[in-house]
Amino acid sequence: MRRAVYPGTFDPCTNGHLDIIRRAAKQFDEVVVGVLRNSAKTPLFSTDERVTILNEVTKDIPNVVIKSFDGLSVDFVRMCDAQVIIRGLRAITDFEYELQMAQTNRILAPDIDTMFLITSLEYAYLSSTTVKEVAAFGKSVDKFVPPFVAEKMREKLRCE
Ligand code: ADP
Repeated sequence: MRRAVYPGTFDPCTNGHLDIIRRAAKQFDEVVVGVLRNSAKTPLFSTDERVTILNEVTKDIPNVVIKSFDGLSVDFVRMCDAQVIIRGLRAITDFEYELQMAQTNRILAPDIDTMFLITSLEYAYLSSTTVKEVAAFGKSVDKFVPPFVAEKMREKLRCE
């Protein structure tokens, strides 16, 4: 089975992430979306909330599985018995960090390859960070995230 892991923070999942997940799912028998637990960032959504959101927004894609993980991506990839790491590339600004990470992972695990999917043009500007900023100022994020995520963001910000 050709299995890929798409690791990330997904705080929260945007239309850009979902586009990468859908496209990766067409290329592999199974795509495991790995939600990083101990990110250096302080997330708006807890790990369990991010997993719930991803489960909901990918429920129509049968070969996508959502899991959370701690530690190094390559260890998680091995645990999943996968061969490939998927990452999305938006702009040249993503490139340097992604290149560094892919090369480090290649030294750590030469049997695992990183594959980059270039963002679809309509999502090239999108990031979880800007979506959170827009929401924090009370503006609609309906154009940036799936409806379920927009609703969860409204709930979350009402509670804050
Ligand atoms: P991380 O903290 O690991 O960067 P993110 O959730 O921010 O986690 O992103 C996960 C992956 O998704 C990264 O490879 C990132 O470049 C990619 N990504 C984020 N937003 C988009 C987008 N709008 N289009 C395509 N790829 C994206």
